[in-house]
Amino acid sequence: MTVRVRFAPSPTGMFHVGGARSALQNWIYAKQQGGVFVLRIEDTDAARNKPEWTEGILSALDWIGISRGSYEGPYFQSQNAGEHRAAAARLYESGRAYYCDCTREDVQARTGSQYQGYDGYHRDLGLGPGEGRALRFRTPDEGATVVVDLIRGEPTFENRLIEDFVIARGDGSPVFLLANVVDDMTMGITHVIRAEEHLPNTPKQQLLWDALGVKPPVWAHVPVVVNEKRQKLSKRRDKVALEAYREEGYLAGAMRNYLMLLGWAPSGDREIVPWSVIEDEFRLEEVNPSPAFFDEKKLRAFNGEYIRALPVAEFIDACQPWLTGTGTIAPPPWQPEEFDAEAFAAVAPLAQTRLAVLSEIVPNVDFLFLASPLIDEAAWTKTMKDGSAELLDSAITAFETLESWDAESLKSTLEAVGAERGLKLGKTQAPVRVAVTGRTVGLPLFESLEVLGRERSLTRMRAARLRLV
Ligand code: GLU
Repeated sequence: MTVRVRFAPSPTGMFHVGGARSALQNWIYAKQQGGVFVLRIEDTDAARNKPEWTEGILSALDWIGISRGSYEGPYFQSQNAGEHRAAAARLYESGRAYYCDCTREDVQARTGSQYQGYDGYHRDLGLGPGEGRALRFRTPDEGATVVVDLIRGEPTFENRLIEDFVIARGDGSPVFLLANVVDDMTMGITHVIRAEEHLPNTPKQQLLWDALGVKPPVWAHVPVVVNEKRQKLSKRRDKVALEAYREEGYLAGAMRNYLMLLGWAPSGDREIVPWSVIEDEFRLEEVNPSPAFFDEKKLRAFNGEYIRALPVAEFIDACQPWLTGTGTIAPPPWQPEEFDAEAFAAVAPLAQTRLAVLSEIVPNVDFLFLASPLIDEAAWTKTMKDGSAELLDSAITAFETLESWDAESLKSTLEAVGAERGLKLGKTQAPVRVAVTGRTVGLPLFESLEVLGRERSLTRMRAARLRLV
C-alpha cells in the first residue's frame, strides 16, 4: 500500500508557523515511506477565504522547501462539493443520518442547560429533507471509538458521549467534518498527520469513515505550539505568520530546522543539523505529545548560526532584499543610486558575524549609503559629553594628515589622541562613531571609516563638531 499523506490548510489568514511544522512532518513522513504528499486547500469557508491567502500558503511552503510541482495538488476542497453532498445523501439513505429542525433554544428548553449537546430529539421522528433542516449523524449508543494515533497511542472515546453531530447545514451544505473526511477518502489518504487541535474531531470523523464503509486512516496528532506562557500561539497575541519571519530575515534553512525541533530532536544532543540528517532521523512516532514551546529567542540564535555558516557571497545575496527593498520588504532609508555594492562587499564579512536576522543589515550599514548618517538622538546625548568637542577636534586634525587611510592607521592614530587625554580606546571611539554612523553600536569602527573614506568621514566629524558648539 502506498502511503499517501496530505496537508490541508484553510486559506483564512497568514500561514501559521504551526502549519508549516505539520507540513514539514507530513513531507518527511511521505518521503521516508516512499509515499505521496498531497496538498489540499480547504477553501469551503467562503466568507473567510481569500485567494491571496492560498498564494501565501503555496509560496511559504515553497520557501521552506516544499516546492511547487514536487507534490500532488493543490486540490481545492470547494471543487469536491458534489462528493460531499453525495456522501451526506448516502448517510441519510442508509439511515446513518437524519434530519432535524431544532434550534439551539429548542434543545436548551428541553435539556434545561445551555451546555448540553444535542439530545437526539429527532432521531426517530422520520423528518424528511427540507429547507432549514440540518442533517445529523446518528452516533452509536454503545461501544467506543478507538483512534489509532502514531503519537498518542490509542485515545478511546465512548460513543454514548458523542452527540448526534451535524454533517450538513439547514441549507444543505456539508460541514467541515464531513467534507474533510470525504476528501481524504477520495484522495486515498492513508495517514492523517495534523495538529492536536483536531483531536476532538477525530472520533466523529472516524465514525463517518466507518459509516461510509471505508477503513479509516492512521492518525497522528502533532502537539500544539505554545508561547512562553504556555498559551497556544495566537495570531492576535504572537508572531505566528511564517511570512513575518521571512520578512524579518530568517533563513529558510534555520526556520525549517527549528520547526522540526518542536517536539522532536535528532540524536546526540544536536539541534543544528543538516536537513538530510532530519530527513533520515525524524520519526513521527517519537514526536513528544506535550505542547511544544516556540522559543523565538532560540530561533534567533539558530538563525544567527545559519547566517554565520553562509559563504560570504551567499550572505551578500541573501541580504539583497533588505538592501534594495524588494517585494513586500520595506525599502531601506537610502536611495537606490546611493547603494554601493563594492562598499557593501567590503563590510559584509564584518556584518555577517553580528546579525541574528538579515533585516538587521540595514541599521548596520546605512551610514555607508546615506549622504549624512541617521543620528540616533538618544545615542548622541549619551555619548557627546564634556570634552567630546575637543576630542573630535584632535581626531579631525590627526585624520586630516593621516598618510594612509586604513583601519590600522586609523586605530593607532585615534588611540594616540585618546592617550593624550588619559582615555581608553573605547571612550575615544564613541564620539567618532556617533558622528560618523549616528549610533553607539555597529560594525568595527576603523574598518567602517576605511570603507567610508577620508572625505566623507571627515565631513561627518566636522558636522558633529559644529553641532557641539
Ligand atoms: N483545514 C484544517 C485546518 O486548517 C485542517 C484539517 C485537517 O488537517 O484535517 O485546520
